[in-house]
Amino acid sequence: MHEYDEMALDILILGGGGAGLMAALHANARDPNLKIGIAVKGTIGQSGCTRMVQGGYNAVLDPADSLDKHFADTIQGGGYLNDQELAWSLVSDAPKLIAELERHGCYFDRTPDGRIYQKPFAGQSFDRTVNRGDLTGIEIMSRLKDSVVASGVTPLDEHRALSLLTDADGGVGGALLMDVRTGRFLAATATATLVATGGGARMYRVAAPSLEKAGDGMAMCYRAGCSMRDMEMYQFHPTGLVAGASVLTGSVLEEGLRGAGGLLTNANGERFMSRYDSERMERSTRDLVSRAGYQEIQAGRGTEDGAIFLDVSHLGADYVEQTFPGMTDRCREVGFDLAREPVKVSPTSHFHMGGARIDSSCRTNLDGLFVAGEDSGGVHGANRLGGNGVAESTVFGARAGDAMAGYVRDASRSSISVGQIEVAIDDALKPMTGNGGENIYAIRSEIEDLMWEKVGLVRDGAGMQSALDTLDGLAERHQRATVPDIREYNLAWQEWLNVDSILTVARLTAISALSRAESRGSHYRTDYPEPDESTPPYNVLMQQDGEAPKVWTEDVRLAKLQPVGIEDQSETRMRQ
Ligand SMILES: Cc1cc2nc3c(=O)[nH]c(=O)nc-3n(C[C@H](O)[C@H](O)[C@H](O)COP(=O)(O)OP(=O)(O)OC[C@H]3O[C@@H](n4cnc5c(N)ncnc54)[C@H](O)[C@@H]3O)c2cc1C
Repeated sequence: MHEYDEMALDILILGGGGAGLMAALHANARDPNLKIGIAVKGTIGQSGCTRMVQGGYNAVLDPADSLDKHFADTIQGGGYLNDQELAWSLVSDAPKLIAELERHGCYFDRTPDGRIYQKPFAGQSFDRTVNRGDLTGIEIMSRLKDSVVASGVTPLDEHRALSLLTDADGGVGGALLMDVRTGRFLAATATATLVATGGGARMYRVAAPSLEKAGDGMAMCYRAGCSMRDMEMYQFHPTGLVAGASVLTGSVLEEGLRGAGGLLTNANGERFMSRYDSERMERSTRDLVSRAGYQEIQAGRGTEDGAIFLDVSHLGADYVEQTFPGMTDRCREVGFDLAREPVKVSPTSHFHMGGARIDSSCRTNLDGLFVAGEDSGGVHGANRLGGNGVAESTVFGARAGDAMAGYVRDASRSSISVGQIEVAIDDALKPMTGNGGENIYAIRSEIEDLMWEKVGLVRDGAGMQSALDTLDGLAERHQRATVPDIREYNLAWQEWLNVDSILTVARLTAISALSRAESRGSHYRTDYPEPDESTPPYNVLMQQDGEAPKVWTEDVRLAKLQPVGIEDQSETRMRQ
């Protein structure tokens, strides 16, 4: 028998980003007597990607804009794969959430006459992006954290969730947690559990999301029996910094630099975008520019360390330093002078559009399990518009909080068997007891290279099949990897657990990508380079079924907006 602590809650929230904090605040506001715990792998309000949001938050605030326009932009951007009910929830709640964030103390940039300033962002038919300079995420998370601290919600900083606890009927009743500082386990049982751990886009060689994210939430959901959707849909940003072993490698140099006239060149000095989109050049869409940069590097026209160049020096040093102070500072930290010289960049993995299948109250197919934010799929379809990510995390976090408060009022607490806690702890301790000798960091780096080359920006069936075989081998090696037998702040142990999640998410990504025999949105296959217009748009669904997932497709329910004809998806019409 293992030793572990116990905690009984009404609501357990996993993740302290925008979705987790908003859920805690909403559930607490609904019923301040509820026992709510928020377990965070990092620290509350200081970890995750919501804090990293630079660009801003999309919401319809101007009378000349409309929910229909924001909705149509979101669906067209998503290649018609979005769950339209979720997308409608996003656009219709976002304006309310901006007002709510202001009540929490957020101050957004203003126009001279005192209204909230809204800037243009790619893929939008109206300027609707709310921001606080290029530190919008810090503004939001700092204020939300203050409110959570004042609310009486139980904070569990540096507690990573390892697995969901299920009852005899397959419902979810909490999670096994680990205090990363001490290595002690904590079985937190709860009537309702929210997974809001922020997705898993760090399984690629170059990646932008916060360092602790490893797809834990998606892996836990899948293993508990939750249905997952469109896991193949990953967004890459065209310009991630390339700075050797620095943690800043992969961090985003914002799109505004290209918008302002930034040039992209390869190692031969060519403005390569002329080969891919001679009309829009560097101002082409995010997915096309990312793919072009990747193809240049793969074709040997990048630098030795796998980069191309972003050059804004011709815009004038004063202009660049004044307009992009954050980006200038970021480059300076790694020895580049953005205002005066070309800077090395590469496409960088940015956002996972796939995830757990939810309804508009964030419920899943498993009783007691709710999912919100980047761990869920469906809102963005095949591609996410800039500015819709933080809107998603706060809108659906709020919805999840409201729904869970209602759910716990009517539901009874699940009974969780002690046996599964023992098994989960055994699994977590495995690398401390084995003697296989494999190095966990080497395995992680091989997965990242494999996913980058075979299941990344440019894919094909043979490559993905071989990637799946290689992932099987890497999974076996992962089981043979060993880490020092130390519980306190054991980073190798944490990495072993990260790789466990990453392997699951990587497999689901490759299987789902193989099932989609077309190119659409962020998913590009050289063996199927066009969208399949012979069938209505469909989603790829997956659920655990023994060792391999059960995979099936379902036509998208085009409840509100649909392509005019399957042959011509460039125009749309609203259904009454
Ligand atoms: C560099 C960058 C810039 C971005 N800019 C924008 C932008 O301008 N506009 C926009 O709309 N979107 C932007 N996005 C996307 C946006 O940040 C995300 O869509 C959104 O913030 C995700 O919110 P979340 O609450 O789901 O997750 P996050 O905010 O990422 O929070 C996840 C939380 O879960 C915790 N966690 C992880 N694993 C575990 C575990 N096992 N147990 C417990 N806790 C765990 C983390 O520590 C963290 O607290 C950007 C993303 C990046 C990477």
